[in-house]
Amino acid sequence: MSTNHELFQRALQRLPGGVNSPVRAFKSVGGEPFFTARADGAYLWDVEGTRYIDYVGSWGPMVVGHNHPAVREAVERAVKDGLSFGTPCPAEVTMAETITKLVPSVEMVRMVNSGTEATMSAIRLARGATGRAKIVKFEGCYHGHGDSFLVKAGSGALTFGVPTSPGVPKASADLTLTLPYNDLAAAQALFAEQGDDIAGLIIEPVAGNMNCIPPVDGYLQGLRELCTRHGALLIFDEVMTGFRVALGGAQVLYGVTPDLTTFGKIIGGGMPVGAYGGRRDLMEQIAPSGPIYQAGTLSGNPVAMAAGLAMLELIQVAGFYDTLAARTRLLCDGFQLVADEAGVPFSTNRVGGMFGLFFSAEQVSSYAQATTADTALFNRFFHGVLKRGIYLAPSAFEAGFLSSAHSDQDIADTLQAAREALAEAKG
Ligand code: PMP
Repeated sequence: MSTNHELFQRALQRLPGGVNSPVRAFKSVGGEPFFTARADGAYLWDVEGTRYIDYVGSWGPMVVGHNHPAVREAVERAVKDGLSFGTPCPAEVTMAETITKLVPSVEMVRMVNSGTEATMSAIRLARGATGRAKIVKFEGCYHGHGDSFLVKAGSGALTFGVPTSPGVPKASADLTLTLPYNDLAAAQALFAEQGDDIAGLIIEPVAGNMNCIPPVDGYLQGLRELCTRHGALLIFDEVMTGFRVALGGAQVLYGVTPDLTTFGKIIGGGMPVGAYGGRRDLMEQIAPSGPIYQAGTLSGNPVAMAAGLAMLELIQVAGFYDTLAARTRLLCDGFQLVADEAGVPFSTNRVGGMFGLFFSAEQVSSYAQATTADTALFNRFFHGVLKRGIYLAPSAFEAGFLSSAHSDQDIADTLQAAREALAEAKG
């Protein structure tokens, strides 16, 4: 059997950075990633048999824990009938009906294969529908790796210090206007100047790619009013927050109705799935009912739909999000207590089942604050808890995720590991 180290050495020979998605490589925290052999409930096991309590959850999808029997069995049943048809299939219709039922602003939906595809398609629709070219995004927000979005982007782009990527043509980047998150006055000023050229504004309604930063009171409402006034579309990127912060997503939690919404992660139950949807009059402009083109060989794949539908059943159980939020609160309050005991400046943010840990005395509500937290201390802390069997996202600029499979004992074990790791890490 290969060790983690042996696998990583082989991977480095044949995969850029040894991985298929950058943040997995541990570059910012240092050291080498482990290779997962299997996952179940709140846990991952690496190829050497070490168990980790997992707070990454495949970067969001695993809100009911890994390898949930209902999701696995739905996939097993679907697989028996074939892997892909290239014709319409019944599960796609049920999926569209389920999403539109659970997210009231979404009247029609188009399934795609990733969050990136969903956001790229949503801005094409915004541009096509408005006849305008410019889009607005927020510093530190990540919307996948489309050209238009790799401008002052979060997640891996922020982690590795290349928030605007080489390879994005200037002509494309020039059409992306960026704003500071949670600063309504800045948005008002930009719209006053360029509002008539703006096709759409895309935002993570709870930012999760510069660590976790909730919107301040009235912020999303303010953006809604601005977009309406200037004829720009408001696009909520709920790839991360959809079915993570509440049933119906951040838009239901904060009571703000976007024109378009993008999804991914949870709606695929762990399979490669994304979706975009919104107002009927907009969605009907997508081919073949309208002229704006977007397509996909594997879109609406029957196995992926089966996984997603099983997942969307599980999260509709009464009290699911209350319990998830209560556990997340227990975890965050516990981390805060541990840091206070150790005398380390620290704060947390949380919404539903997502959270952020900051080595910073301030409550963080902006990108500028997030980037001034003590990342060197985070990196030492990350490794300290990792060697005690706790897997946090390997970057100070990612949100953490809890699942319904995390038990009180898992949380207690995590906090004990955090106590020991912090005593070591604070030096
Ligand atoms: N939007 C948001 C808010 C995300 O968090 C992500 C991925 N983390 C994406 C879009 C891109 O999704 P994918 O990685 O599936 O392309």
